[in-house]
Amino acid sequence: MVEPRRFLTEEISFSGRFSSDVLKTLKECFKPWAVRIIVLFTIGILGRFMLLSTANVLGFWADSFCISGPHCKSIPGVFTGWGHNEFLSLLLWIAGIGFIVNTAFRVGISRTGALAVSELYDEVTLRTSRLPMSFFDSTPVGRIISRFSSDYGSVFRMAGGPLGEFMCLVFDLLLIVVLISFASLWFLPVILSIMLLNLLAYKLNNPIIRQERRLLSKHRGPAIAHFAETVQGATPIKVYGKSGSFLKRYNTLVGQVVVQKFRTILSLMSFNLQLTTITAIVLLITGCSGIYLVHKQLVTVGDIAVAFTFIMMTSTTIQQFFEWLSNMEEALTGVERMDEYLRKPLEAGRLLPSKANFNTGHPVASSSERKETAELKTLLSPSKTLTVKDLSLRYRPDLPWVLKDINFTVAPGEHFAVIGRTGSGKSSLIQALFLMYPPEKGAVYLNGIRPELEAIRPCPPGTVPLQIFREQFTLIPQEPVLFKGTLRENLTQNPKMTDQEIWDALKQVKIDSWARKLKQEGGSELDYPIDERGSNLSMGERQLLCMTRAMLQPASILIMDEATSSVDPSSELLLMRALRDVLKDRTRIVVAHRLSTIADADRVLCLDKGRIERIVTPRELNF
Ligand code: ATP
Ligand code: MG
Repeated sequence: MVEPRRFLTEEISFSGRFSSDVLKTLKECFKPWAVRIIVLFTIGILGRFMLLSTANVLGFWADSFCISGPHCKSIPGVFTGWGHNEFLSLLLWIAGIGFIVNTAFRVGISRTGALAVSELYDEVTLRTSRLPMSFFDSTPVGRIISRFSSDYGSVFRMAGGPLGEFMCLVFDLLLIVVLISFASLWFLPVILSIMLLNLLAYKLNNPIIRQERRLLSKHRGPAIAHFAETVQGATPIKVYGKSGSFLKRYNTLVGQVVVQKFRTILSLMSFNLQLTTITAIVLLITGCSGIYLVHKQLVTVGDIAVAFTFIMMTSTTIQQFFEWLSNMEEALTGVERMDEYLRKPLEAGRLLPSKANFNTGHPVASSSERKETAELKTLLSPSKTLTVKDLSLRYRPDLPWVLKDINFTVAPGEHFAVIGRTGSGKSSLIQALFLMYPPEKGAVYLNGIRPELEAIRPCPPGTVPLQIFREQFTLIPQEPVLFKGTLRENLTQNPKMTDQEIWDALKQVKIDSWARKLKQEGGSELDYPIDERGSNLSMGERQLLCMTRAMLQPASILIMDEATSSVDPSSELLLMRALRDVLKDRTRIVVAHRLSTIADADRVLCLDKGRIERIVTPRELNF
């Protein structure tokens, strides 16, 4: 059976040990804070040392009661002659200062941890926004959202408070070994064997827990993606009465997440149970051997009480340490998943901005890039002849060719139309002009200059950076895209643009009288709120606003991809005539379905199954 072609990629399944890249990424996160971390660790160890050493001071205080005899232990000379008051005030001072130092460490490390991992978020965003379009085509939006929400959430949660908790446990363990050796070497083998047993349980359970956590992260994406898709398509789902099947699918996907969450919790609980059992067995052995030793009169009941307390305290700390170690792994799973996006190759010809800090092998723009590119812009001015040469395009190497051997030239100021049947490749041609999908064959030139797609700097002669190349075009897409915000924000992001300029553009597109009706109480019409994706406007209104936005862009080549398909024919005719006068200096490339739209065009390119059928004048089309 022929395997169906997949447009969407499967969610990646991580397995086995974490790759060394995870460690490298963490190093990049914490590198800028190295000095602060060293200072904080020193403070942290000091604080924990002070708090834990109160047990030893208590021991010396107790030993000071023993004046003479075989069971008496000598106390350090510094404590000779000390009474209750001295010991009590020393304990209060140590505990007080230890508490303050410890709190300072906890606050400091939480803040530093949070700052360090926020850097990860920024760096992944910088790269993801520069990934090739094929990535966004083949990755459901829910999957991307889950990387930036639940996966990053698990990293941030751990780096905030729990990192401090975990580090305190690490310090406690180190100090317990030191302080116990100082108090009585006898406890050391017992403590070390508890550690080894816990380590064994950790090693046995960790691969299972890690895999369960990875599966949990993997299952979240499809559930979120399905939810987002359902909300977007709510109208057709209701109209076709398909709510039931969507609900069923959602239940299945959420069910998978819940089952996986349950399995993850089960694996964690089983691990915790094993650790608790180890602690209980060790305490049982200590208790039984204690009874035996007391019975044989080898040790006193007091000695056994002290040993029991110490072992109980340390085994609980060791248990907590391994529990937290396992929890920290959850954060590592999040880092692993974000790391995947961090290291993906960028869109051909794109560079990371100079503010990117992580060394991931991607090309990074130099700080003088802006100045250099400004100079290159002059290469593309004043007039821009657009030349498409031997261009062939497919969306991915595993998909069929959608444009084949395209050759044409558009003169500056020309009104150039593109027509063709549905699926003939008109929108793909527009995408190719923008280099949204790098052409595998052929190239696009402006004034004989092509975009530089190898990210080489300085740009070789005859090339300009991709961004500069794209800035020469402005696009009114087939699907009008508006964002949540005010009307003004949707039309321009340039703070220097005056209201008068915006009104002029609205007038040119002939929607100024419509816009005047949007009068806001206590605000101007331009402050009218636009909902997400422009859902509070009609499709035609959205298209006209997108056209106004394009008018406000200084780009010299205006591309309209069926930009007026939802506007009624008479309004469209009026608009196109008005635009002919206003835009006479700009090159216009218009993709159209209606022949009336292209009646004014200088030339018409007819596309058929991705090939140029002919390039003619509108009159030669015989309509
Ligand atoms: P219409 O008049 O319906 O807008 P069109 O001429 O603009 O059609 P295109 O959108 O360019 O057609 O599509 C041409 C071919 O490319 C179609 O067969 C389509 O399936 C395919 N195609 C379009 N976009 C993608 C994409 N992002 N990934 C893969 N294939 C695509
Ligand atoms: Mg199209």
